[in-house]
Amino acid sequence: MSHVMNTYKRLPVSFEHGEGVWLWDGAGRRYLDAVSGVAVNGLGHAHPELVKAISEQAGRLIHTSNLYEVAKQEALADRLCALSGMDNAFFCNSGAEANEAAIKLARLHGHGRGIEVPTIVVMEKSFHGRTMATLSATGNRKVQAGFEPLLSGFARVPYDDIPAVEQVAAHNKSIVAVLVEPYQGEGGVQVPEANYLIELRRICDQHGWLLMLDEVQCGTGRSGKWFAFQHGDAVPDVMTLAKGLGSGVPIGACLARGAAAEVFKAGNHGSTFGGNPLACSAALATLAIIEKEGLLAHAGKLGERIKAGFAEKLSGIQEVAQIRGQGLMIGIELDRPCLELPLMALERGLLINVTADKVVRLLPALVMNEAEAQQMVDEVSALIIDFLRGN
Ligand SMILES: *Cc1c(COP(=O)(O)O)cnc(C)c1O
Repeated sequence: MSHVMNTYKRLPVSFEHGEGVWLWDGAGRRYLDAVSGVAVNGLGHAHPELVKAISEQAGRLIHTSNLYEVAKQEALADRLCALSGMDNAFFCNSGAEANEAAIKLARLHGHGRGIEVPTIVVMEKSFHGRTMATLSATGNRKVQAGFEPLLSGFARVPYDDIPAVEQVAAHNKSIVAVLVEPYQGEGGVQVPEANYLIELRRICDQHGWLLMLDEVQCGTGRSGKWFAFQHGDAVPDVMTLAKGLGSGVPIGACLARGAAAEVFKAGNHGSTFGGNPLACSAALATLAIIEKEGLLAHAGKLGERIKAGFAEKLSGIQEVAQIRGQGLMIGIELDRPCLELPLMALERGLLINVTADKVVRLLPALVMNEAEAQQMVDEVSALIIDFLRGN
């Protein structure tokens, strides 16, 4: 019997080492990794420059606490603000914690404006994490069931539905912020209308709300820009990051801009591990490598090729409802549940993910090359066709 608590249904494989988009199990079998640790390993596995950066940092200093100044944290905040146009950053250790910081910031902002029950607009099919506040914000009953009482202070509307937000604005005077994923990940790789964030920005400005973007999954280069909001003109007040930021070394960040950057005062929030020198060196190396290797443009171009490849390979297959995504965040929606696909794929030496029951989700590393992408398209297409034919 395993002594690990039973919170995950795991596939029957354990990996020993990796290189780029490849992983090897204990028996020496090789797998093409199209999951990247759920959008974490953007640089692929064992990127030599990342390994060097964290090894050197570990040899010098891993942790000192936030009782003292942390030079690497200052450097990372500078870099993230320069790339995003935000003004400052709070560092933590995960996506859920980054969103917790955003939720707390929004509530404090609301109380500062004299709003007694500050309420945040959140979306259906959203995912913001597994802590009590973030699962309450999440738009998925499966994540919430059994954990009631949920936190109050959230008003839910459908994703990509501006009239629904307008309606909340007209009726609820306690709203202080909107929390939204620019592209939904767990919700099934949902891509909203091109002007969605611009419209949300307009409503937020009109009512004095904060626009808070959860870029935990779609940020740090995955969409083909540093941050997904940079595909359009809307700039957020708050943005959260985690997943790809540290390439596997746990780090999360909550960035803020303008008035939102002045909300937290010393003592309002904290984290023991948050932004320690090791995690910050991993994030700084990640950003430096993405820039040096031109991975933003590469991810954007490769994503388009991959979608075109699937459109070709799966054309005429009526059970394939839609192929969508942005950059290297790609979803293939089927007309039926396909939760057995990851195990079928594993048996073929391929790692894929299924989310929202019937969406095959691919999150390959930003370093994936064209030949590897073609192999992924060929193998995933063949797998989907075999699955639909009952093979
Ligand atoms: C994964 C994810 C989270 C939660 O991140 P954790 O590091 O697992 O806490 C939050 N928001 C989005 C959009 C995510 O994809």
